[in-house]
Amino acid sequence: MGFPKSSIVTMYLFLVMVMVRGEPEIAPPGTHASPGVQLQACVENGMYALTFDDGPTELTMTVVEKLNRLGVVGTFFVLGERIEQYPEVFKTTYGAGHLVASHSYSHPKFTDLTVPQMREELDKTSDLFKQLIGVRPRYFRAPSGFVNDEVINLIKEYQYNLIFWNLDTLDWQGYDGTTILKSIETQLDSATPTTKSFIDVKHDRVPATTVYVLEDIVTLIQSKGYKIVSLPDCVGDALPSPYSP
Ligand SMILES: [Zn+2]
Repeated sequence: MGFPKSSIVTMYLFLVMVMVRGEPEIAPPGTHASPGVQLQACVENGMYALTFDDGPTELTMTVVEKLNRLGVVGTFFVLGERIEQYPEVFKTTYGAGHLVASHSYSHPKFTDLTVPQMREELDKTSDLFKQLIGVRPRYFRAPSGFVNDEVINLIKEYQYNLIFWNLDTLDWQGYDGTTILKSIETQLDSATPTTKSFIDVKHDRVPATTVYVLEDIVTLIQSKGYKIVSLPDCVGDALPSPYSP
């Protein structure tokens, strides 16, 4: 006796659902921060969060000074191995009121790692935070944005907010400042402050975004009517501190 056609269809639909569920999904805009939830936008339209990845570097202090002068805050997704190279820069960034967050220890593709290897990447960086600034990170961005269910489950266990981006400045592709500004403007012009919010991605190892056009980027964002906010404000973090003890 063969399967009735309807049950074959049901099985097929079930398999499709499992496959779809197996792909980790980005939460829709407006979703509040919660451990392991993949966020790429803010809770309110019109908000814009500035982020910088892969530091600290010899350029980070320039970024920090510029942000301070402009009166805006940024988030720095740092690598443990670079914190070891630039511990004072890391401490100064934190001390100036910018958010420091984990971007792993050595920037591996997390989807290629075993769980113990992932733990080592997270723990080594978290321990450096504790040693140098007395607190541990609560925000994480996966290197190059690679995640799967295994990564997400671990991030949830660590109680980290998992941050992606919806505006790529493309600074990592080696473009010059003018091209980067044009790219940001095009992406901003795809929406309005009443219909969209942004979390960007920039790199404080790339002179184009950090040294040459950072002021112009900030001016551009503000001139389009967006309000630059801290990442915890952007994602509606309900906890009083963006760090853990
Ligand atoms: Zn990175």
